[in-house]
Amino acid sequence: MVLSVSGSNETRDCLDPWTTVYINATGEVATCCWSKPIGNLNDQTIDEILEGEPVRAYRSGLLTGDLPEDCAKCPARAHVPLGELEKKLAKLDRDALREPDFESHSRIRSLERRRFELKDEVARCEDATEGKRLSRELSEVDRELGKLTYAMRKPLRALVKRRIARILSFGRGNP
Ligand code: SF4
Repeated sequence: MVLSVSGSNETRDCLDPWTTVYINATGEVATCCWSKPIGNLNDQTIDEILEGEPVRAYRSGLLTGDLPEDCAKCPARAHVPLGELEKKLAKLDRDALREPDFESHSRIRSLERRRFELKDEVARCEDATEGKRLSRELSEVDRELGKLTYAMRKPLRALVKRRIARILSFGRGNP
């Protein structure tokens, strides 16, 4: 379910879907302690979960202000203008890369927006030919987005993997 924040240009002040994973004892992974699971480590790799459809829905929602239900009701994060969250995200990407790649960053942002629009257009389209064209464009956007985000977020994924390995090692009796 998707809810807009008062129909305004606001979102939540939250980078968790880009930076954070919560893992419970059954292997369920969530973006934060308020959100629904985005996958399970027993069924998928952490790479698949961190680039999968459920986490992308949280990212798109926060970037556009059309928030997933959990974020709309979130008791933890304040409302901020969309531009403010975008600036924080740009800084996160720069820090993760350790060198600026503004071109990839802005391309990813525009692809994420286009993907969000296309999903809506596909859902509302009643013309079969136009529907096929929109679906093809959506697949192309998905492919390019997947390639770019995989490359850009490599350092972040490596960090998350190291942290997960450390958490799992506690369960095997290591300090
Ligand atoms: S529910 Fe709150 S903390 Fe969790 S991702 Fe949404 S805004 Fe962030």
